[in-house]
Amino acid sequence: MVTATRRFEFSAAHRYWRDDWSTEENERVFGRCTRPYGHGHNYTLDVTITGQLDPRTGMILNMRELKAIVSEVLEEFDHKHLNEDTPYFRALIPTTENIVRVLWGLIAPRLPTGVRLARLRLYETNDLWAEYDGADEATFARAYSFSAAHRLHAPALTDAENQALYGPCNNPNGHGHNYTVEVSVAGPIDAESGMVIAMPDLDATVRAVLDRLDYHHLDREIPAFAERPSTGEHIIVYLWDELAPRLEGRLRHLKLWETGRNMFEYTGPATVVTGRSERTDIHHGTHDYP
Ligand SMILES: [Zn+2]
Ligand SMILES: [Zn+2]
Repeated sequence: MVTATRRFEFSAAHRYWRDDWSTEENERVFGRCTRPYGHGHNYTLDVTITGQLDPRTGMILNMRELKAIVSEVLEEFDHKHLNEDTPYFRALIPTTENIVRVLWGLIAPRLPTGVRLARLRLYETNDLWAEYDGADEATFARAYSFSAAHRLHAPALTDAENQALYGPCNNPNGHGHNYTVEVSVAGPIDAESGMVIAMPDLDATVRAVLDRLDYHHLDREIPAFAERPSTGEHIIVYLWDELAPRLEGRLRHLKLWETGRNMFEYTGPATVVTGRSERTDIHHGTHDYP
């Protein structure tokens, strides 16, 4: 399946508030998004389409045509207050999840025959996005940071082998990084909060796990890395094992940037049945942090 994606931008204000909840409940679930006059973002929308390639043009759809269709939809949102100036968020909280689902309902039916909307991803900020593909579930992702020292050293190898393999990363006293981890959760959008997971709950859950690593030396202070080298691969598996049970089945994807150039991804343990062993699938790539 070939897909094509075009990026769009719009700027809008919004506010999270439910009249049928107490002030305390609003503030507990929505935090500072409850402030009375709202706040705003530069939203970035990635529109991904799929369909048969037109044999004459070699395209699913002329990008200029896609641009015209989506821009017409976004006119209603750009430079507006989503609660006050659009009809969509009178009863619905304009969370990233709800906005992306509303946009799906507006964009999908406008596409010409033979062209299908595959996915919409809406960035509220560089490190917070929601994705929707028309199904019952939405995906919500947020990035967090921690800073830690570590040393790459495999106990199974000799000192000379460690030095040859890891080079400067084997420095006995260690070195360190600002790590960024993007946590993606998926599930139905809660009808009342408009969220896949209440953001304060996600923040508290992730921070509790990351704070154990933040401003520490991984190999010397975290028992999980006493016997296994603190590679990006091992760190991302450690984070998955810590986060998955706390997020009660909603964790879908982790991305870990060790530096701006080294990035690791993990979608949880995949058991490959070979009759003998289990293998853990980790994707390791280089990627710039968005
Ligand atoms: Zn906001
Ligand atoms: Zn390192």
